[in-house]
Amino acid sequence: MEAVIIVPVFIISVLMMITIIPVMADCENVIFSVCDELRAESVKSAFRQNPAALPVSLKLRIKEENSRMSSFHMRFYRYLYTDGELDGLLQADVRAVFSEKNPIGILSSVTFDGCVRARAFTGKLHKTPPGSSGDDEEDDRIVYIFPEWGTKYHDRQCSYVKASCQMVYLSQTVKGSYTPCKLCDASSARIGTPVFCFQESGRAYHVADCRVVERYYVEIQKGKAEEQGYSPCSKCGGGGHG
Ligand SMILES: [Zn+2]
Ligand SMILES: [Zn+2]
Repeated sequence: MEAVIIVPVFIISVLMMITIIPVMADCENVIFSVCDELRAESVKSAFRQNPAALPVSLKLRIKEENSRMSSFHMRFYRYLYTDGELDGLLQADVRAVFSEKNPIGILSSVTFDGCVRARAFTGKLHKTPPGSSGDDEEDDRIVYIFPEWGTKYHDRQCSYVKASCQMVYLSQTVKGSYTPCKLCDASSARIGTPVFCFQESGRAYHVADCRVVERYYVEIQKGKAEEQGYSPCSKCGGGGHG
């Protein structure tokens, strides 16, 4: 007598389980695709900004990968927005509906809502953990150091800096703004080699063995300079006036 009641209940439960498990796997698959597409967009947005790309590619991908899903749509989407101190955020809220007939003919419908937020690649260095009020911007500021001479960092306007030349790596930009020095045959220097320019006075770039190259400086982030043991110049203060 007991078996008459318990066995059907047991069988129905098992059948329900059999229908639910693939749906759960599908939900997991949907959220994985959302994360994966957001990750890709977080990288791509650094090179081109296209708010329409993610919703389109995501919809195509999810429809293609989840044949049992009956509908999918983006409930909410924000592209490169700012929330508090964090910029470059992406948010995608999605809804997927699965309607499935289980073996005993009961139509079960499962609605899955997912919300994923990601941060796009910003190209900035953040050494302090998120949330803490670090002085990132201050650390990112460009200062000038003389790699072979002394342990001070300087402001661009410092007279030490003005009297010296800057070492940069030869690029098309450098070639566009400066002409090669004839004395040191700088025109034979190849892209990527260190060359030396006087920002204030010179119109030429030089190679290392040119007689005009004496003390040279390089650009560096203030935070990095301090990490390497440089301290502010006593004359210019290291450019600490903002
Ligand atoms: Zn200085
Ligand atoms: Zn020269």
